[in-house]
Amino acid sequence: MMQFSIVTIFPKMFNNIFKYGVINRAITNKIININIFNLRNFSTNKRKKVDDKIYGGGSGMLFMFLPLFNAVTKIKKMYKKNSVVIYLSPQGKLLNYKNIQYFLKVEHLIFICGRYRGIDERFIRTQVDEEWSIGNYILTGGELPAMIFIDSITRLLPGVLNNKNSLLNETFSKNLLDCPHYTRPKKINNIVVPKILLSGNHKKIKKWRLQQSLKNTLIKKPNFLEK
Ligand code: SAM
Repeated sequence: MMQFSIVTIFPKMFNNIFKYGVINRAITNKIININIFNLRNFSTNKRKKVDDKIYGGGSGMLFMFLPLFNAVTKIKKMYKKNSVVIYLSPQGKLLNYKNIQYFLKVEHLIFICGRYRGIDERFIRTQVDEEWSIGNYILTGGELPAMIFIDSITRLLPGVLNNKNSLLNETFSKNLLDCPHYTRPKKINNIVVPKILLSGNHKKIKKWRLQQSLKNTLIKKPNFLEK
């Protein structure tokens, strides 16, 4: 079972997100387990303070080293698995379809969700194994990135998706975008489902889908075809 641990000051943000669809099924089927840890519970301060002003001046607050250190130490003790500590950060490696495969081999991922100006550099230098980003833009916190990581990793784990073919043919899997798909009804506003899809001829359908995938890629992401 793959273990995900999340360290955040807003644990309630995760109350519902994992209760639906594929991720919920993966939890029920014990393929993954997710635990949320409130950083404030690891504060050494009476008022559960976890942030402080930045040395040298400047706006915004920073998460202090000690609460983060206490949280990660406790979490590592709780799950005696090989763990990788990930700081979700716009400065990190960019997540994509290919490098996501790396996470499938990790037993325990500990996600640190920053807020404000981020976290003390000494925590990054001594406790964080890797910094990862979900895109070249700045969010207000690491909670949405943590959700995105868990969602995109989980769907690739063995036994999670019922139909292996959907993984083989989806966008990015072969540097080709997926082809267009249609469902009922056959006609909407004079746009009819391509006849070939109703023909029952699987060989021709396969060829048509490949042609459409190539066309889609050429129009939407031509750089993929160079690969
Ligand atoms: N001062 C930081 C900088 O310029 O690199 C940005 C801090 S950001 C406002 C607050 C937190 O949101 C970060 O500590 C990080 O955990 C999270 N975050 C923001 N953008 C992100 C991104 N693109 N990918 C992953 N995490 C992100």
